[in-house]
Amino acid sequence: MSKIIITGGGVAGLTAGIYARLNGYEAVIYEKHHVPGGNLTGWNRGGYHIDNCIHWLTGTNPVTDMYGLWHDTGALGGVGIYRADSLFTYEHNGVKLSLSRDVSKLHTDMLALSPKDEKEISSFIKALNAAKTIIEVSGKSNDKKATTSELLSSLPLLLRYHQLTTRELAERFRDPVIRGFLQGLFVEGFGALGLLVAMATFCSDNGDLPQGGSRAMALRMANRFRSLGGGLNCGVSVTGAELKKNRVVSVTLSDGSTAAADAFIFAADPAITFGALLKESLMPSYLRRLYDHASVNRFSSFHSAFACDVPELPFCGDRIFDLPLALREKLRSKYIILREYSHEAGFSPQGKCLIQTMHYFNETECRRFIRLKDSPVEYRALKHMITDEIEAFIVAKYPELQGKLSRLDSWTPATYKRYTGADVGSYMGFAFPAKLNPLFRSGRIKGLDNAYLATQWQQAPGGLPVAAKAGKAAVEMIAKQEKRNEKE
Ligand SMILES: Cc1cc2nc3c(=O)[nH]c(=O)nc-3n(C[C@H](O)[C@H](O)[C@H](O)COP(=O)(O)OP(=O)(O)OC[C@H]3O[C@@H](n4cnc5c(N)ncnc54)[C@H](O)[C@@H]3O)c2cc1C
Repeated sequence: MSKIIITGGGVAGLTAGIYARLNGYEAVIYEKHHVPGGNLTGWNRGGYHIDNCIHWLTGTNPVTDMYGLWHDTGALGGVGIYRADSLFTYEHNGVKLSLSRDVSKLHTDMLALSPKDEKEISSFIKALNAAKTIIEVSGKSNDKKATTSELLSSLPLLLRYHQLTTRELAERFRDPVIRGFLQGLFVEGFGALGLLVAMATFCSDNGDLPQGGSRAMALRMANRFRSLGGGLNCGVSVTGAELKKNRVVSVTLSDGSTAAADAFIFAADPAITFGALLKESLMPSYLRRLYDHASVNRFSSFHSAFACDVPELPFCGDRIFDLPLALREKLRSKYIILREYSHEAGFSPQGKCLIQTMHYFNETECRRFIRLKDSPVEYRALKHMITDEIEAFIVAKYPELQGKLSRLDSWTPATYKRYTGADVGSYMGFAFPAKLNPLFRSGRIKGLDNAYLATQWQQAPGGLPVAAKAGKAAVEMIAKQEKRNEKE
């Protein structure tokens, strides 16, 4: 039996490990953090559970191929799926617009808000339905499978949006609520096609929440790997790789030992793989181009969590607000997302609630936080200042929460950098800019015969399904290569 060593125990690495075992390989994962899961994680604070990741999980609709992959990896593990009526609500001056699961309701709501935008709304809704058509063909057993002519007629509707960022899309509408609704979910510079796909995923019942949240999902995947006989070593970093000709022969580990294998999967952030483990010149050219491209950005965010001494909150689900002008400068962001967890009884003590907030940072801001981490006093002061402002913002929006909030935690791009090593603290891939090739890229590393990438960076904008697909694909490539070698 051949042995595969996997660097990184995030979703890509765990998926690779599980498929390696399912295909009969010996599989060992080295994960630098003391818990598996990478960005798919959560932690406890003061009797509350903070969820770091899933806002929507693509692949919760049983007719899709992605659902099959989550099933194989134990990610869904028989837990219930929470299907909210809406994915998020944008609120501006007290007027709200929600992304309803039902596209016709969204259409009616947009028209009611802004009849003068009727033409643009109609074209947007057609594109959303076209994106649904394309997404719904991904399942082999999908009885909603679109015909070729339906597919061909859907594509032009979407291509129109492929050219636009969410800001450019928003500028086509006159209504300020619709404009904010289209921009607030993602970081500035994000492509409109990415937004349409995310919305269509939710509206296809394919982007919902596995019960128990992110950490529980990561632990189910880790348990699945272990139960298949995989070796999961947490708290052990890979620090280098030894190459002979066009093969990796072993990796060095943080405890000073080396580990040899027949094949290697690099499932850490590519900036680590090609910055610290393999020569930079081995980085696939599509990745190099994206890293170097002036308009292709990476991003991260600032988060805070508050315990709320109330049995029920004045809002439900994810709520997006514009930040007032004065705060934009201080928080270096335009929008803020507030999130509550009433669907997860175990996340807060009985009779209490939890609010988490996030606001995006562009790459420059991420780097500022990461640099500041070297000056702990200043870093903490900035974190506290921002958290104070956010708390005041929440209370201004919901005066009934005055005196009821207490801080549980705040975390920044520097936190992500510290835990996963990811450059600029990014936890998703490139911010799916307009005109970007949306296709999934191979994890092949040109010049190496037995080493592969498995990472969310193989398809913008990354995310859990891309990471998982990449993990599975890496094992498939190893199996193919082995067959070729046997024939020769
Ligand atoms: C706030 C937030 C919200 C999100 N929301 C969603 C969402 O709603 N839906 C969605 O699909 N995705 C979401 N994501 C993104 C999702 O978490 C990531 O896309 C996914 O977890 C990436 O998986 P990965 O395995 O490619 O990378 P990572 O999670 O980065 O895993 C890489 C692993 O490699 C380890 N590692 C690094 N260097 C080494 C080394 N030298 N040796 C050993 N191990 C190493 C790291 O510690 C890490 O565990 C969100 C993420 C965050 C943080």
